[in-house]
Amino acid sequence: MLKITFMNESKIESLVSDVKESVNLQFPARIADLCDLVRIPGIAWDAFDAADLERSAQAIKALLDDLEIFDKVDIRRASAGEKDGAPAVVARREAKNGRPHILLYAHHDVQPPGPEDQWNTPAFEPTLRDGRIFARGAADDKAGIVAHLTALRVLKEIAGPDFDLGISLFFEGEEEAGSPSFRNFLDENRELLAADAIVVADSANWTVEVPALTTTLRGVVSQLIEVKTLDHALHSGMYGGVVPDATMALIKLLASLHDAEGSVAVPGLVQTEAAELDYTEAALRVDAGLLDSTSTIGTGSLLSRMWTKPSITVIGIDTKNVAVASNTLLPSASAVISMRIAPGDEPEKAVVALREHLVANLPFGAQLTFGEVEMGKPFASNTDGWAFKLAKDALSDAFGVESVEIGIGGSIPFIADLTEVFPSAQILVTGVEEPDSRAHSPNESVHLETLRNAMSAEALMLLRANAAVVPSE
Ligand SMILES: [Zn+2]
Repeated sequence: MLKITFMNESKIESLVSDVKESVNLQFPARIADLCDLVRIPGIAWDAFDAADLERSAQAIKALLDDLEIFDKVDIRRASAGEKDGAPAVVARREAKNGRPHILLYAHHDVQPPGPEDQWNTPAFEPTLRDGRIFARGAADDKAGIVAHLTALRVLKEIAGPDFDLGISLFFEGEEEAGSPSFRNFLDENRELLAADAIVVADSANWTVEVPALTTTLRGVVSQLIEVKTLDHALHSGMYGGVVPDATMALIKLLASLHDAEGSVAVPGLVQTEAAELDYTEAALRVDAGLLDSTSTIGTGSLLSRMWTKPSITVIGIDTKNVAVASNTLLPSASAVISMRIAPGDEPEKAVVALREHLVANLPFGAQLTFGEVEMGKPFASNTDGWAFKLAKDALSDAFGVESVEIGIGGSIPFIADLTEVFPSAQILVTGVEEPDSRAHSPNESVHLETLRNAMSAEALMLLRANAAVVPSE
């Protein structure tokens, strides 16, 4: 357990202005670095040229070598089943004089560009417009890499090249393809990556002006089910009205998953409340494209419903297709039920709760079988830790606006691996994106002032960690 003694107020104020000046002076050069990286279309799917990912890793390694602060800089791969994973760029410099060690994570692979005709300017040609740089990867997540490297340059410049803070870098090359070799990579490089705190720069801020730490992620449980009522199909005119068909039994069963208001009706799932931030139903309606006549579902604040309460969606149903519909009572029907589970819940418990609910609500004595299950853990960051306080203060000081805590309704699956392999490390989820970044979609962009502030915030955090006295317990 680490404890940190914080700097006094006047020292902090002059540090903030020194950091901002250093970031401002080098900002054009760092944006040039970002543009160079963005021009390399490294995509980790088999359908794309693996040589681009290799070039991307080499270009990043060159930027790290250029920093001249690491004991070691390397490009490494781990196995992903039959084949090798994508190249990751790693580096390490040991901590001195009892200072903490911080691991900085981002990924250098990008999403495929998507339909070319939906881009206003070419996907891999960075274009400056309206205070933003538009390109695939300009935000997700090459700006995350450049923010880390800028923060390290500022640390070196202000604290001197002999600084005490321990640093590891891990720039993954296959995040967008589901991180197939991630767990093996952590296991094989445990010593290189081990840290007291991990900064995952792959998320978003609340707005372009208001910085955020992402403190919760929902987990996921999906369950394939099959319902049977007959041992063979029947003519619906002959037996309809007395024999239940499997489609009807399945629909009644699936309907039991929500109550009349649309809240999840499965008992035993964890629910918590999200931080109170301003998010109106009008904004949600625009963001989600909700039709005028359609109401929202569930109860409680909108953000709690999106971030910290469970949700259930039936994501696939197999019965007879409309195109081949015939007057038949079907003997069996199946569906995939996908649950988002709240931070603090456990997938293993949630799947048991779901199954018990399904068994208890099965109509007409139908037969129910459970098929394939997929599970991903939710995440809740340790908001009492020293690293969390450092990050929150640094964000507020750099942006000049109090930082907020946000959630994500979806998952970042590799975070569960980080918590398993490094159980004592505090995990901070930061990022350079904001609601208009459009990661994964055409016309992705990074907002330059948000990026500039995010760079300053991370530099401040590293400088304070470097200056902090960290007696071990
Ligand atoms: Zn990303």
